[in-house]
Amino acid sequence: MVAGTLRLGELAIEGWSRAGEETWFRIQPPGLGFDAGRGAAGLVGVDDLFLSHGHLDHALGVPWLLSQRRFQGLGPARVVCPGAIAEDLERFVSAAERLEGVVYEREIVALEPGGRVDLGRDLAVEAFAVDHVIPSLGYHLLRRRRTLRQELVGVAGAELARRRAAGERIEDEREEVWLSYCGDTGPGVFQSAPRLGESRVLMIECTFLGAEMRDRGATYGHLHIEDLASQSGRLDRCEAIVLHHLSRRHHRAELERAVAHHLPGLAARIHLMIPEAA
Ligand SMILES: [Zn+2]
Repeated sequence: MVAGTLRLGELAIEGWSRAGEETWFRIQPPGLGFDAGRGAAGLVGVDDLFLSHGHLDHALGVPWLLSQRRFQGLGPARVVCPGAIAEDLERFVSAAERLEGVVYEREIVALEPGGRVDLGRDLAVEAFAVDHVIPSLGYHLLRRRRTLRQELVGVAGAELARRRAAGERIEDEREEVWLSYCGDTGPGVFQSAPRLGESRVLMIECTFLGAEMRDRGATYGHLHIEDLASQSGRLDRCEAIVLHHLSRRHHRAELERAVAHHLPGLAARIHLMIPEAA
């Protein structure tokens, strides 16, 4: 399957997702990965990989990526995962090392909701709880932004430099949710992760469509388009919403029609990273 690249302002999002087949994304900057798919060549260069959960359409590729990185001499990698699966992931990767008779340069980092990984350059990733059938996390990509203090707007540059040199604080700092990635989740995520509505870019799954699939989401820990429609008021501040993880039983064109029908107010901001089913 050929991965697409979506450009949203400064961000480039590469990857694709189909339920049960494969889910992986590479976010540039800062050059991190969300989920590993079955082993996506587009993720080999990623030093920081954030795994949402252990279902193999998301996680199978972890040892392959580490193996490729060793082969290509790319240096250490960090694999961040839900705390509850860290031991099993360690065993999975260790078994691959024994199979290959090598050791990968890697660190497995266990996170709980609210836990953070610092990426440097004013960026961090914070985990949040999602609503899936096995231990799973979503991740916020946070960016620290500095803006001139309101009362100093219009003050000449030389004067600002003088005040700064004198030790005066001339900027306010705030942390914005630059992007949020939900992985697999049911509608409980809207309660467990209230900051989703602050995300400039929201990557969220939409697995099911149509009246006959309406109850599937609650059973399997996935979202139905009507779950998104019922929360659309919360998503009004998002500049872009990237839908992924459509079930193989639905065509991409069905989702396009469903977005126009159920999410008319958001449709212009919605992007699909969903290839046609194989
Ligand atoms: Zn899953």
